[in-house]
Amino acid sequence: MDGDPNRAARYGRVLLKLSGESFKGKQPFGIDDQAVEFLASQIRRVHDWGVGIGIVVGGGNFWRGAEFEKHGMDRANADHAGMLATVMNSLVLQDWLEREGVPVRTLTAIPMQTVAEPYILRRAIRHIERGRVVICAAGTGNPYMSTDTAASLRAAEMGAEVMMLAKNAVDGVYDADPNLDPDATKFEHITHQRALQLRLQVMDSTALSLAMDNGMPIMVFDIFVDGNLAALVSGGRVGTRITSDEDGEQISMPRATNLPLALEQDPRL
Ligand code: UDP
Repeated sequence: MDGDPNRAARYGRVLLKLSGESFKGKQPFGIDDQAVEFLASQIRRVHDWGVGIGIVVGGGNFWRGAEFEKHGMDRANADHAGMLATVMNSLVLQDWLEREGVPVRTLTAIPMQTVAEPYILRRAIRHIERGRVVICAAGTGNPYMSTDTAASLRAAEMGAEVMMLAKNAVDGVYDADPNLDPDATKFEHITHQRALQLRLQVMDSTALSLAMDNGMPIMVFDIFVDGNLAALVSGGRVGTRITSDEDGEQISMPRATNLPLALEQDPRL
């Protein structure tokens, strides 16, 4: 790892994708308190630097729609249940972040007004500008999609400069599964297009294409190494960079400027 975790943040706004797997830690299923506490502490560290943080949370520790479809369930029904699983994880993360003293709001793409605010882009940006971490629950709100796709979408629309794709015990993108193939080689850098061509199992192709079409850089890293998230946010090279340029130097997107300006002038938000 390079990059000094004590250095000022390189990014003003980031989108972090946490898979459901990262909530279950060493448990076979569900939530591991220690894992979530660790995640919250890593996020607090970069929030303390004043970085705007949006988080898209997965639900695979509870439910995956495609698996239940194989058992005969209607896919859209199964996917709705999967999105509700992401809401459970979001509420758990919200709780732990609050315990760490981090202001946070959960916004859900499936309206559930007694539990969380609905996801409204302008409101999400407003919260971030006021220093609150925004947790985006319920993916895109649509079946046949993944929370990786939600992450590519939210990163682009919320004006994130980079998407950070947190992995659990995998430290980047490999040309084969490192748990099965001892000769698997890690990429320091790869383009979105090459990752798609090679059909690497980093994220689904819809999510990767969306990031590619928007030129959104993606950092794939192991969040369970203490300080990895902080090092990345301070501009360090950790894990694998997925970028549009061949030499992998374009590690940030220019910030969107017109929407925040409109928000400043909108007294309702
Ligand atoms: N899901 C969905 N639409 C979305 C996001 C998620 O239908 O926009 C459902 C889908 O069934 C998926 C489940 O929610 O299997 C959990 O999300 P995901 O598999 O992306 O979670 P992760 O792998 O990140 O834990």
